[in-house]
Amino acid sequence: MALIVHKYGGTSMGSTERIRNVAKRVAKWARAGHQMVVVPSAMSGETNRLLGLAKELAPSKAASAYHRELDMLAATGEQASSALLAIALQSEGVPAVSYAGWQVPVRTDSSYTKARIESIDDKRVRADLDAGRVVIITGFQGIDGDGHVTTLGRGGSDTSAVAVAAAMKASECLIYTDVDGVYTTDPRVVPEARRLATLSFEEMLEMASLGSKVLQIRSVEFAGKYKVPLRVLSSFTSWDIDINEEAKSGTLITFEEDAQMEQAVVSGIAFTRDEAKISVLGVPDTPGIAYQILGAVADANIDVDVIIQNMSKDGKTDFSFTVSRNDYQRTIELLKDKVLPKLGAESVVGDDKIAKVSIVGIGMRSHVGVASKMFRALSEEGINIKMISTSEIKTSVVIDEKYVELAVRTLHKAFELDQQAA
Ligand code: ADP
Ligand code: ASP
Ligand code: MG
Repeated sequence: MALIVHKYGGTSMGSTERIRNVAKRVAKWARAGHQMVVVPSAMSGETNRLLGLAKELAPSKAASAYHRELDMLAATGEQASSALLAIALQSEGVPAVSYAGWQVPVRTDSSYTKARIESIDDKRVRADLDAGRVVIITGFQGIDGDGHVTTLGRGGSDTSAVAVAAAMKASECLIYTDVDGVYTTDPRVVPEARRLATLSFEEMLEMASLGSKVLQIRSVEFAGKYKVPLRVLSSFTSWDIDINEEAKSGTLITFEEDAQMEQAVVSGIAFTRDEAKISVLGVPDTPGIAYQILGAVADANIDVDVIIQNMSKDGKTDFSFTVSRNDYQRTIELLKDKVLPKLGAESVVGDDKIAKVSIVGIGMRSHVGVASKMFRALSEEGINIKMISTSEIKTSVVIDEKYVELAVRTLHKAFELDQQAA
């Protein structure tokens, strides 16, 4: 008997029929003798629907003005799906109870709409498990120190599930979703993408942080910190498939590098359209400009990603960086109002039609020429690279958004990711 955490995403919970299917699957695991904690997302489309209603009522107001209420609102999506799952389980004859984040409680900091989990109290959950109940805990939400409801950022139910698994010291956290594992790239963009049977934690962390939304990045960080065994698998298989077969399916995130195993140089390709590029032009090239520009941006709580400072000419230089597309307008205004006058720079220009494409692989550590192969493949397709950023196990390029799918397909082929691993 083991303690297992299951997480079901929005599509997996998308209708009463699918919820019944989830209940039957969970019931199978419970009847096999496991203690089960289940973390559901809201039914698909529900979070967007709720946030859309808020926007209808306050179209001109910055959403940050009513962040607290957005969390009160969005958290209801998971409360509904969790209760429905408990009802479905009970109707299958399986004792089950659902809890909202605040009832557990799942404690978070107070950053509405992107709160971080600080601790999870396992007492109540353990008592239910010991009494033979399946425990359902809402994904995506928690409560801060002053009793306000918080949410964890889009895709945050992954993080709820892994954090619950860590707090409960679960044997495994199974993330059930609408694809049957982690692929070499998004299978909806490249049909030739291949499912990976295993992927190292470090590679998964890079893939998630570079835009593969199959797992929210914080869930991977949690898994790494607490060494939570993590598997991504499909909720769309028939619920009554053999449990041992199911337990081995999908993609296992591994923590130990297998020295025997020949590592693929590039394991996967991630991409994101969520960024925008901003350039400050004609900046006097004196010490401290990076600090003056990026310091002001950081003080406004805006995350910066790729950064480039050009060679200076006649004592002036251009300074470019990317931010999340949501922060684009705010960053431009901030620079125009506060930074430009002080800095004596000429102008601020921006482009929010960019995308970032990244190749990821542990094998890049020990191979040279991987980045140049990437650049060559892109240039052969006539794709212009605007910015480059590298780390030990990834290379990212910023390109025009209109080329993103072509770039991903080109790189997938160039690195032979559609071929079966040896
Ligand atoms: P859920 O609602 O279950 O949390 P998400 O939509 O958040 O599901 O994540 C699953 C989706 O992630 C898939 O449908 C797929 O389109 C996308 N995705 C992006 N990159 C990858 C990848 N490398 N492997 C698998 N899926 C990916
Ligand atoms: N329901 C939330 C969202 O749509 C959380 C999640 O699905 O993980 O972002
Ligand atoms: Mg998700």
